[in-house]
Amino acid sequence: MTNDREVCVIGAGTAGICAARHSLASGMKTTVFEQTGSVGGTWVYTDSIGKDEFGMDVHSSMYKGLHTNLPKEIMGYPDFPIPKQEKSYIPAEDMLKFLNSYADTFGVTNTVNFYHHVIRIRPYKGKWEVIVKDLRKELVKTLFFDYVVVCNGHYHTPAFANFEGIDTFKGRSVHSHDYRDAMPFKNETVLVIGAGPSGMDLAHEVSKIAEKVILSHHLPEKPKTVFNDNVVQKPDPIGIHDGYYVEFADGTQEYCNVILHCIGYKYSFPFLSVDCGISVDDNYVNPLYKHCINIKYPTMAFIGLPFYVCASQMMDLQTRFVFTYFSGRKELPSKVEMQDDTDAEMEQRWSKGLKKRQAHMMGPDQCKYYTDLAETAGIENLKPVITKLHNESSQRFLDDLLHFRKDVFRIVDDETFIKVN
Ligand code: FAD
Repeated sequence: MTNDREVCVIGAGTAGICAARHSLASGMKTTVFEQTGSVGGTWVYTDSIGKDEFGMDVHSSMYKGLHTNLPKEIMGYPDFPIPKQEKSYIPAEDMLKFLNSYADTFGVTNTVNFYHHVIRIRPYKGKWEVIVKDLRKELVKTLFFDYVVVCNGHYHTPAFANFEGIDTFKGRSVHSHDYRDAMPFKNETVLVIGAGPSGMDLAHEVSKIAEKVILSHHLPEKPKTVFNDNVVQKPDPIGIHDGYYVEFADGTQEYCNVILHCIGYKYSFPFLSVDCGISVDDNYVNPLYKHCINIKYPTMAFIGLPFYVCASQMMDLQTRFVFTYFSGRKELPSKVEMQDDTDAEMEQRWSKGLKKRQAHMMGPDQCKYYTDLAETAGIENLKPVITKLHNESSQRFLDDLLHFRKDVFRIVDDETFIKVN
């Protein structure tokens, strides 16, 4: 299949290489811009924090020794699984090797312009004007494309906990984005805020050498995990006293000299001009049809925004959804219909009490989203076993953080998995 339309993909992480693969498969001229020198995005470990060699914010949030928090059986792409190996929870280096092998296999690596930072995008005379800087040559170019696929990730712009008196804290404040290993926390009393995957993992890692760890969160139920003896759990922090004493929602106080913020990240698209019509309000990216197509300009798509999902699997489905329309195989509904569809979904979310920051959260309901994408575009859905294993693994993570990565799973058929140890 050939097609003379030109596609610009921003980022060569898990989402970008998938978008480029399907763009190429649709016969479209495909250009990927990647600001670093590698494929793999956040899976590329670096010792650096703060700024990189070009003075840009370090993108990766990877830390030393990280093993996946989901089994490899659901971390591959639907038709390109992670090769067989004894363990299910694999080291970050293996995940990175896998992403490189995917990009090589589908001819994506050759389409990537490395060290190219996208500075600005705006709609211009029916096309997308993309201003990009070649970081090594310090050269700025202006190029034009028919379609833009935004794959810049959403684990790179840290969100910090904000509560009364936080600016009077006299100790050290660190975000999980800048965590590389536990050494800087040796013998410290560390308040870890947030009990998502990073907060839970880092509370445990830090507790191995810290004096004490206070894990503060608002999970409806305390995780069943039995942490080391030097870990205590507290509700949300509500104030700071005398520079170092944190008050919690239950009225208790704890001393700490380091705060490790693990409350997540902000969606950020600094390269989108306001004319693109996309706003981000408390992590609600709006207006998007099915969480991925820009309703104002439906030739722009975003891959990978939803969270609590099987990321690579969902990215592949979203990409096939998007390219069904970009390639002209199917026509999108009108803008009004797309907006009505989105409004109806968001109304349901707000009526359940979800906040804007949960607009793109999927969790146990993720299979409804997958089915919706597949049925709407008439494309193959993800296998139900993927969601089932995701839910099982997420529960095991909460129940037994210290041992869940020893589990080994095998997928038996489209519906069933077994635990083999
Ligand atoms: P990224 O991997 O962040 O890639 C985005 C790419 O875009 C980067 O290469 C970046 O350099 C590039 N870029 C950004 N801006 C520009 C620009 N302006 N111009 C050019 N290039 C640009 N998920 C799981 O499924 N299982 C796990 O076990 C797991 N563990 C994780 C552990 C950590 C510490 C973190 C941070 C995340 C983890 N995730 C995990 C989530 C993981 O981030 C996603 O699964 C997935 O890798 C995200 O891919 P992405 O392509 O959307 O973003």
